[in-house]
Amino acid sequence: MIIRKTDLELLKMRRSGLLVHEILHACAAIVQEGVTTWDLEVIAEKLIDDAGATSAFKGYYVPTAGSKFPCVLCTSVNEQIVHGFPSRKRILKGGDVVTIDTGVHLDGYYADSAITVPVGAVSEEVARLLDVTRTALELGIAQASVGNRLFDISGAIEKHITTHGFAIVREYVGHGIGTRLHEDPQVPNYIDRRNENPRLKAGMVLAIEPMVNIGTAETRVLSDKWTAVTKDGSYSAHFEHTVAITENGPWVLTRP
Ligand code: MG
Ligand code: MG
Repeated sequence: MIIRKTDLELLKMRRSGLLVHEILHACAAIVQEGVTTWDLEVIAEKLIDDAGATSAFKGYYVPTAGSKFPCVLCTSVNEQIVHGFPSRKRILKGGDVVTIDTGVHLDGYYADSAITVPVGAVSEEVARLLDVTRTALELGIAQASVGNRLFDISGAIEKHITTHGFAIVREYVGHGIGTRLHEDPQVPNYIDRRNENPRLKAGMVLAIEPMVNIGTAETRVLSDKWTAVTKDGSYSAHFEHTVAITENGPWVLTRP
């Protein structure tokens, strides 16, 4: 069941969204060679505490992993797609890309957003991967309008990525969001005819999040049972926003 939010609820989600933006912005600002992914975690945790919010991720239980997620950020480097965790041992080096993904819970409502940040100079192909993934998200957001259908979002994302010769991750998808981190509907980054294709209505809020690989679309999960990586080791990118559908068009809650 897709839960539509009232205007008051959207204003609360906006506060969560702006906090998520602040966290990602602060983390991205310190990314450079020599920084560890744990350094990012420390910044994020302090901002969440200072805001009187709680992390959407830390303590999140996933049955397939059999444990609770240990951190407030997911940090996924290079061939890692999603759900990597920060580590004092993971020192970023030039040419890496690091995906920073975070969610918060504030005043009863969640927001969720992710960015992939280059470390120093990256190869031309990797720069193009980031560009295509970021643009795919924007094209998806542009379809998040009253009267459109879910597959208008999925299809716009899919078309842009496949046109540019990259591969779309299928095992992980976007989602509705509100008083729970993951609500209906699923938001795949491709048209999946097995899924429902609901009409978009005012008050729906979706976390739209293309995950894109340079090489194969296939994924596997590391022995830590969390970190998803590309099967061929090629680099992956991930951009995400929490987006409300309103009578005035898409409202990106995680962007100022
Ligand atoms: Mg996320
Ligand atoms: Mg998400």
